[in-house]
Amino acid sequence: LTSRLPNVGTTIFSVMSALAVEHGAVNLGQGFPDFDCDARIVDAVTKAMRDGHNQYPPMAGVAPLREAISHKIAAMHARHYDPNTEITVTAGATQALLTTILATVHPGDEVVVIEPTYDSYVPSIELAGGKPVFVALEAPDYAIDFDKLAAAITPRTRLLMINTPHNPTGRVWHADDMRRLEAIVRGTNVLILSDEVYEHMVYDGAPHESVARYPELAQRSFVVSSFGKTFHVTGWKVGYVAAPAALMAEFRKVHQFNVFTVNTAMQAGIADYLRDPAPYLELPAFYQQKRDTFRAGLANTRFKLLPCEGTYFQCVDYTAISDMPEAEFSQWLTREIGVAAIPVSAFYHAPHESGVVRFCFAKRDSTLATALERLARL
Ligand code: PMP
Ligand code: GLN
Repeated sequence: LTSRLPNVGTTIFSVMSALAVEHGAVNLGQGFPDFDCDARIVDAVTKAMRDGHNQYPPMAGVAPLREAISHKIAAMHARHYDPNTEITVTAGATQALLTTILATVHPGDEVVVIEPTYDSYVPSIELAGGKPVFVALEAPDYAIDFDKLAAAITPRTRLLMINTPHNPTGRVWHADDMRRLEAIVRGTNVLILSDEVYEHMVYDGAPHESVARYPELAQRSFVVSSFGKTFHVTGWKVGYVAAPAALMAEFRKVHQFNVFTVNTAMQAGIADYLRDPAPYLELPAFYQQKRDTFRAGLANTRFKLLPCEGTYFQCVDYTAISDMPEAEFSQWLTREIGVAAIPVSAFYHAPHESGVVRFCFAKRDSTLATALERLARL
């Protein structure tokens, strides 16, 4: 068999989690909470099963969930997406991203990707026969150079992928960034795939700047989010995509043949839980406290803190501790120090070393304390 993805191995998240288990390390690598979700959302899903929500739901998702998503977006960003024609429930954000790419990218089309980038993007583009065009951000501030971004766009560009708040850097786009983006795509046919899975994890009082807030961007955008992140249920794999009707019609053509639909009871339960905005409105304060605790602890170590404006990731520069490459350092840290991290080099397509690793702070305070105590020994 000739591989469709010859350059792809096992995803770094699986590799580092397995290594963490093997060595009994505190796993600050793969991004997932080590605490349980709200019992009320489990009750809502259980009730949905007991109430008989156990057969195929509609292809686009159960109506109450699409309606609840529409209300949430309208309340937060003052834009109305029609639940019938503009919102589809997906099997997590990963499937939303792949499906959007398969629905829009023709063989030979260019897709602009900002690096460091989430590891599913490039393989998804390659499966569609697209050509990734990279714009690299660099440590320590990972500032976006909009002139470089503009220069990456050509008449062959079909899609531009953005991600704010950004995994792995924790950087967040602000209103002036969104206006620069608007200016760059104005007058082009470029579509935008906006990965907003960390939309409810923006700190220090800043708003989440969804493309949905910007009419010129929204009319050409697929907005992707994930309940896994928002409700501490990464294993449930339920997310959604919102897009104008014409774009959504194309999305659904592909969606119906790669997953058809997403499990009914979870959709019904999430729809129920989503009626109360408190859980997601309280999320920034919840994670900001963890970020601040973790950063305060790291300030007593030899790691150098990089900015964290959003997400549940904290990047650190370890060059005062070691000159190992990032992948080797992450493995060494897991094996010898007992704390797993993710090398940021895994988010670049070509070899790229900055002496930076990513920690996930979506952990119990006791877990963070154990990790900090170990890291302080370095
Ligand atoms: N995009 C980004 C930036 C992510 O960090 C993640 C989660 N790791 C995903 C997409 C995938 O989300 P899901 O688990 O809902 O598929
Ligand atoms: N999004 C998570 C992260 O960045 C991991 C998801 C996965 O394991 N595929 O760590």
